[in-house]
Amino acid sequence: MNESAGLTLGTAGHVDHGKTTLVRALTGRDTDRLAQEKERGLSIELGYAPLTLPSGRRLSVVDVPGHERFIRTMVAGATGIDAFLLCVAADDGVMPQTTEHLAVLRALGVVAGVVAITKADVASPAHATAQIADELPGIEAIPVAASEGRGLDELLGALERATAALRGRRGRPGPTRLHVDRVFTLHGIGTVATGTLWSGSVGPTQELLALPHGMRVRVRSVQVHDQPMERADAGQRVALALTGPGRRELVRGDLLCDPAGDLSATYRLNAALKLSAGAPPLQRGARVQVHHGTRDAPGRIVPLEGDELPPGRRAVCQLRLEAPLIAARGDAVVLRQIAPPDTIGGGQVLDPHPRRQGPGTRALLEPERSPRAPAETAGANLSEAAIRLADLLKGDGDRPRTDNELGATAGLDGPDARSAWREAERAGLAVRVGPNLHFDPATLECLSALVVGICRREGSVTIGRVRDELGTSRRYAQALLEHLDAEKVTIRHGDMHVPRERRG
Ligand code: GDP
Ligand code: MG
Repeated sequence: MNESAGLTLGTAGHVDHGKTTLVRALTGRDTDRLAQEKERGLSIELGYAPLTLPSGRRLSVVDVPGHERFIRTMVAGATGIDAFLLCVAADDGVMPQTTEHLAVLRALGVVAGVVAITKADVASPAHATAQIADELPGIEAIPVAASEGRGLDELLGALERATAALRGRRGRPGPTRLHVDRVFTLHGIGTVATGTLWSGSVGPTQELLALPHGMRVRVRSVQVHDQPMERADAGQRVALALTGPGRRELVRGDLLCDPAGDLSATYRLNAALKLSAGAPPLQRGARVQVHHGTRDAPGRIVPLEGDELPPGRRAVCQLRLEAPLIAARGDAVVLRQIAPPDTIGGGQVLDPHPRRQGPGTRALLEPERSPRAPAETAGANLSEAAIRLADLLKGDGDRPRTDNELGATAGLDGPDARSAWREAERAGLAVRVGPNLHFDPATLECLSALVVGICRREGSVTIGRVRDELGTSRRYAQALLEHLDAEKVTIRHGDMHVPRERRG
């Protein structure tokens, strides 16, 4: 099997900055399929095309609309991607949706990618290149003129480098989970749903549960980029022909999942959220649009400590939703301001089914000296081995495999693995929490915040309490508490760990 099968590349960038034209030049496929799209020369829906890089590495390209009116569609398309292809027109430079799409990518934790400075035949690419270098240090920017085919080979080379070490969602364990991004009817086949498989696998005759309504459907056939498959795996873009639902019973935003799994719709989420540096603070009760998977819902934000969520600082909040989302712990959410519409931040789900918490519930802000976020450091001069380890770690979430297991999975022997771990630590892509255990920094931040929250509410915490609260094993709970002790966030007295600041 191809090493990199199952990586998804998403376009991003302002309307008319040449995304669809570039995808057509690279793949030969016109992703503007609708009559209305052709008439108006404007992408409205998500478009898909397979792209084979010179090395043979295969990517699925998702082409998103750039117009501000279709930002919901853009977020739904970006939600499953592993890397971005940001288009900035040489004659226009950075525009509002260039910035907004970057905010979406940041909120989703997508840090790998390439910038295409398009329309380089119309204007000098120098200005746009300089603008974007400030926004995306360490990311290659390649001038292209799709109309003349200029710069395409260089762009493919840059895509090769940017995706070389990514593993994406391939083989990600867990129940089958597909957030539906398109539904249509094919004559003689029936209802077809498409999306990126987030975890698990899917094949013909499998029964799936469609959420939030809870309808059972059966898979008749599976295709990946028009090729019939006996089985498709996590990370692949799939089209499922289904028996059961009529054309109108399934829509974008629905989730198709393993009926035996424990996913269910929720109107309440606890999440570690962070607003972009320039965003205004959100007061308790502020209404925002919450995007998750291919779905979004308005909701009110309730910080669990203090009365507001300040910009630039991660804090745990409860989101009270007006329509259901179907999320799991560790999933990314994107926050958008309702009026005027703008992407203002995002974060990670800590608990998809929390009890109601509100004013007066004490909880946690992140420890001040949290590790540097990967988004600020990734990209530049890291070895492939370090990126591979960091990527595996991110995929493992709150139950990372041991260093030895991950090293072996990444194909590294002892000394190579040790130096790759050190490199990943230095770059802020991995945090060592035990002799044979690392955590992804963002995941560790969330878990630490939860533990600090319990500590503050209850005065102290034990390994057993952390294990139960996080639904994890004793081993991870112990490693987490020892890490917090070592970081001087908590201090141990017998079986109890208490917050440091309470003493003295
Ligand atoms: P999108 O909205 O970002 O998908 O942009 P499109 O791909 O639809 O392109 C918008 C317009 O720019 C179309 O009229 C294209 O023909 C034109 N265009 C795109 N790329 C280039 C390019 O490299 N050179 C020139 N001269 N025109 C381009
Ligand atoms: Mg387009």
